[in-house]
Amino acid sequence: PFPAENLTTTTTREFKHHVVMFPFMAQGHIIPFLELAKLLAKRTGFAITIANTPLNIRSLRPEIDSTGAGLDIRLAELPFSTAGHGLPPQTENTDFLPYNLFFPFLQASEQLEPHFERLICRICQEDGGRLPLCIISDMAFGWTLDVGNRLGIPRIQFCTAGAYGTSVYYSLWTHLPHNQTHADDFVLPDMPHVTLQRSQLPTNIKMATGSDPWSLFMNRQISRNVRSWGSICNTFEQLEHSSLQHMRKSTGRPVWAVGPILPSSLLSSSPSNTKLDSDFLLRGKQTEAKSARACLQWLDSQAPSTVLYVSFGSQNSISLSNMKALALGLESSQQPFIWVVRPPVEAPLNSELSAEFLSDGFEERVKEKKLGLLIRKWAPQLLILSHPSTGGFLSHCGWNSVLESLSQGIPIIGWPMAGDQFTNSKVLEEEMEVCIEMWRGKEGELKPETVERTVRMVMKEEKGNRLRQRAAEIREAALKAVSEDKNGEKKGSSVCAVDDMIRELTVGYQC
Ligand code: UDP
Repeated sequence: PFPAENLTTTTTREFKHHVVMFPFMAQGHIIPFLELAKLLAKRTGFAITIANTPLNIRSLRPEIDSTGAGLDIRLAELPFSTAGHGLPPQTENTDFLPYNLFFPFLQASEQLEPHFERLICRICQEDGGRLPLCIISDMAFGWTLDVGNRLGIPRIQFCTAGAYGTSVYYSLWTHLPHNQTHADDFVLPDMPHVTLQRSQLPTNIKMATGSDPWSLFMNRQISRNVRSWGSICNTFEQLEHSSLQHMRKSTGRPVWAVGPILPSSLLSSSPSNTKLDSDFLLRGKQTEAKSARACLQWLDSQAPSTVLYVSFGSQNSISLSNMKALALGLESSQQPFIWVVRPPVEAPLNSELSAEFLSDGFEERVKEKKLGLLIRKWAPQLLILSHPSTGGFLSHCGWNSVLESLSQGIPIIGWPMAGDQFTNSKVLEEEMEVCIEMWRGKEGELKPETVERTVRMVMKEEKGNRLRQRAAEIREAALKAVSEDKNGEKKGSSVCAVDDMIRELTVGYQC
């Protein structure tokens, strides 16, 4: 309920538009939201408030104080409790959360609705009764549309996945096309150009019936997301034009492709790669300067474009047997690598990585031969991807990792595991031609020979050169999309999209 008297209070403060942003509590969502907040604050001078749970706000603060200095970005804590959801205390983020706890965590996030509504009322009060210009919130928080509607504020969904990945994901949940057939391949009814295989379905969709709790939750969010005032996508027109057009047509609402939303130092034509940029070190879970320096030193000792970076994002682990196979395959490929290692899925929650999870003596051997560097749990990914020694990325194909890799012209070896990653890997391989999929999902027994063969193909053989060439073309297109000349006359498509969105939001705004 909105306190009506606030609406009529006159302001004594200088008027400034206010945007409220609300990411889901996962690094792959918080990171691009924060980057978008900086971009909007820089371009418009608006006040931005980022809402989240206390522990996430606490870990965001150093980055705001550093790379957000001088911008009007404020942080707001919303109370959050894990009680009654079967979650360990203080679970406020999907980091290292086992798969079986993921859904309880999503369900728990719905308790944030009244707190979020109260926050907006408070902001309105502090702004002299003026409503925020808009709410920009996560795909997982479709219910923020209800809050926006109750208070009379436009809600925009921010898709942290790509346009293709988002469209296919929404289509799968909406139609469950795999339940209409026994065949292994099936076509999406509203995207007839897309044929998928059962093994490209995330586990939750594979099991969905349409009336189970996952399906009901997802349909509650998606039905609101597609009715929202508009969507922002972390992609760019040239990369995903037809999928963006599909989103525009199917929602009947504007879709602004404003990406790739990345730190500007990563998007300059001469990247300042070897500098210990705070943009890079404070991002996400933060890397200590000491370990970043060790990582840089190791990369400096390798030849250009030879290092394979191996990481499966902020929340995935692999099985013990696949971990051993990956270790053996990497070693026998003889290709230098940096591997961000997490304990396997079988390990108890919060365990540390121990040698028994890898092949005997593996870490010592690769260290001695200067063949491999193991980083535990969290790596300075942007620092690694922007280093000239890095030449390939074995990735789970999370959309942020994809954009970070392509923005550096680095081809991808795909190992999708969940969510939109399967379709990201598919579009990267079949349409963008920058990827070879090596393995799919968390099941089955990966063979070391498969790893060795794929790594050689991408890092050493002609096929890899072609992928690299295509990735370099995409990098050029990405730089163009976010570029603007000094007079602001010539703007890339993503810069135009940001300006269009601001114009549409502010035109007719009653001060
Ligand atoms: N990331 C990082 N270091 C790590 C793991 C992840 O900096 O060790 C960052 C990565 O750069 C990306 C984000 O975390 O920005 C992960 O997002 P993505 O969409 O790739 O995968 P998710 O974690 O959402 O599955």
